Amino acid sequence: MSHNKSPYAVSVIDLMHRPGEMREKSLDITEVDGFGNAVIGVRQGSEVRIDVRLESLHDGILASGTVDAVAEGECVRCLTDVSLPLEVEFQELFAYSEDEAFDYTVHEDHVDLEPVVRDAVVLALPFQPVCQEDCLGLCPQCGVRLLDNPGHQHEAPVDPRWAALAGLEGLTEGDRPADDTDL
Ligand SMILES: [Zn+2]
Ligand SMILES: [Zn+2]
Repeated sequence: MSHNKSPYAVSVIDLMHRPGEMREKSLDITEVDGFGNAVIGVRQGSEVRIDVRLESLHDGILASGTVDAVAEGECVRCLTDVSLPLEVEFQELFAYSEDEAFDYTVHEDHVDLEPVVRDAVVLALPFQPVCQEDCLGLCPQCGVRLLDNPGHQHEAPVDPRWAALAGLEGLTEGDRPADDTDL
């Protein structure tokens, strides 16, 4: 099985076993499969930019860098599309050894940044994405997006507790019982 096809693979043949050598590289990738959590992620076909510094160490290649991508999903409150620009840092050692102690290894003459980039991005994604911090969600009665409809309300109260309160106010109007000031 070859790993060379991955667009996230970077040749390190010029750095291998030459501690102290260092090189920077940028990759512009069109993500093939997409990745993320259940509610938001980098979609298939989205552009992923990677700026990486590759440093040759005694036991492998240290890859440090940043990933720039846009995650797309839906606001968990109002279901509007959410587009979230991300800039995520990563740093991992790709070891020469195949020992299980290392999560990542140099494959032949290259490193595959894909699992590192995916893990870093997925960790940075919100589990409850919102279109904006003060999103009011949807009207529980008719489903309109409340931010688009300021002052939106219905004739009949939505909440049965409010209905009870409204009835009480009707009955006691002009003869209001104890309120907060008596506490
Ligand atoms: Zn929203
Ligand atoms: Zn409504």
